[in-house]
Amino acid sequence: MLENVVEFFKNLPEKVCVQCGDKIEEQSECYSNTCDKCNSL
Ligand SMILES: [Zn+2]
Repeated sequence: MLENVVEFFKNLPEKVCVQCGDKIEEQSECYSNTCDKCNSL
């Protein structure tokens, strides 16, 4: 059961900004779909 969860997260695609398509760095406040650059606009 636990292994399935690990596999699930390993297979997740990299999170990218919906605005510019840049990869979003892992952050504690990672609730948005845009990068810092687009967030500040
Ligand atoms: Zn962006």
